Amino acid sequence: MKRLKPIRSLIVDMDGVLYLGDEPMPGLVGFFAFLREYRIRFQLVTNNSSITPAMYVEKLARMGVEIQDSDVLPSSIATASYLASQYPRGARVHAIGEEGLMVALQQEGFVLSRRDPVAVVVGIDRDITYAKLREAALLIRSGVPFVATNPDCTLPVPEGQVPGTGVIVAAITAATGEEPLFIGKPEPWLMEQAMARMGSDPERTAAVGDRLETDILSARRAGVFSILTLSGATSPAQLAASDVQPDIALQDIQTLVDGWRRILTQ
Ligand SMILES: [Mg+2]
Repeated sequence: MKRLKPIRSLIVDMDGVLYLGDEPMPGLVGFFAFLREYRIRFQLVTNNSSITPAMYVEKLARMGVEIQDSDVLPSSIATASYLASQYPRGARVHAIGEEGLMVALQQEGFVLSRRDPVAVVVGIDRDITYAKLREAALLIRSGVPFVATNPDCTLPVPEGQVPGTGVIVAAITAATGEEPLFIGKPEPWLMEQAMARMGSDPERTAAVGDRLETDILSARRAGVFSILTLSGATSPAQLAASDVQPDIALQDIQTLVDGWRRILTQ
């Protein structure tokens, strides 16, 4: 815990850390009060591409936490930013996804079209159909680059783990033999973009998340201090068995705040 002393910026995963589905974690309001009291900057970073920053702002407001759109960096926005660095404004992209991804692509100036797209982009789509898989597979087989928001095969909800983006990607990979370029965690892109937004660097930044293979691995790849919470996707047994180890593991954000406050007030 002592290594948290110099940390001035925190990259925070949401699902499984701040809430599970629509259920806030214990200590959620106090967590943000703590960050503000000690002037620790934060970015809420998520591989979930289904909803827009404004929708996360509303979701947290319902849980008693006030944040702004610019505090949220989902993989949908990072994916649209990546594509904007590769292709000109007005280029056509074909996307499988929900509103968050579609809005992010359009805000970067892309036209959503299945006709001669520069890329096939895949995010979570809870209305996935055979017809959508068929269309994506045909485009990718014809040589169109394949890009995916994130590799998570499951998504935590109050009932347990349900299928995520990685399941849709796996179906398309099975049909095409092609692996996508992943933009979200465990690639370091989201972490680096979050640090740029906070004006921070790896020495003064920590990342907190509930998944070893995405949150913790991307933190390690970006060179930032990594904190695992056991309140989401990872059990203590999975942690013990994994090659990917966090700098520290804690029960939840309440435990993190209690320990961090002790370090800062010593
Ligand atoms: Mg999570």
